[in-house]
Amino acid sequence: MIDTFVHKGQRNQLAEELRAKGISDENVLNAIRQVPRHLFCGDPALEQHAYVDKAFPIESGQTISQPYTVALQTQLLEIQPTDKVLEIGTGSGYQAAILAVMGAKVYSIERQKELYIKTSRFLQQMKYSVTTFLGDGFNGLPNYSPFSKIIVTAAAPYIPRTLLEQLQIGGLLVAPIVNGNKQILVRIKKISGTNFEQTMHGECAFVPMLEGINYQSSM
Ligand code: SAH
Repeated sequence: MIDTFVHKGQRNQLAEELRAKGISDENVLNAIRQVPRHLFCGDPALEQHAYVDKAFPIESGQTISQPYTVALQTQLLEIQPTDKVLEIGTGSGYQAAILAVMGAKVYSIERQKELYIKTSRFLQQMKYSVTTFLGDGFNGLPNYSPFSKIIVTAAAPYIPRTLLEQLQIGGLLVAPIVNGNKQILVRIKKISGTNFEQTMHGECAFVPMLEGINYQSSM
């Protein structure tokens, strides 16, 4: 698959759609215009859906997040080129690529081995500055902490304390948190080692954040 002017046009259109839905950070909209989402979808048959504002399934029973959700989470993170970002849930690599084109240094963890291998290869091939890890996001990456921003892209039952510990003072964490039968997008600002400010940003729909590494092949 290649990136054509038609794809670029579709991305411009998608960016305008996201603007109309409330995304106002021009750097986020620029990143949406730049990253060829159709190449992250895996299956060429899905290419025609790549620039529709919808989530859809990728391999290993996982999903590539809806562009609006990616844009909203990224906007809430207030990304600066100096940011060091930890992502939980590499998945297709699309969210990581968005952060990387905004200049952030990205560290991303995936728990499914097969997906980790495939996406790591792809991100490298595309030359995005993303370092990938096979691991359990509940543990974060103690050896690389602190991070100025942390983004969780799987629905967590609670905000893991480990991740809050790996966030630098003044840093932001954005995560979907399960609340009954809903998921709420939550943003936390770390004011000090013991003081956190929390705001809520509406409902969302992510696959669950699960413990442990999955070494099994789903194919
Ligand atoms: N950011 C991704 C969205 C992926 S969907 C994208 O842009 O495409 C969520 C991903 O989180 C899945 O790939 C799932 O396997 C992974 N995941 C779930 N629980 C995890 C955990 N504890 N640690 C790391 N990854 C996890």
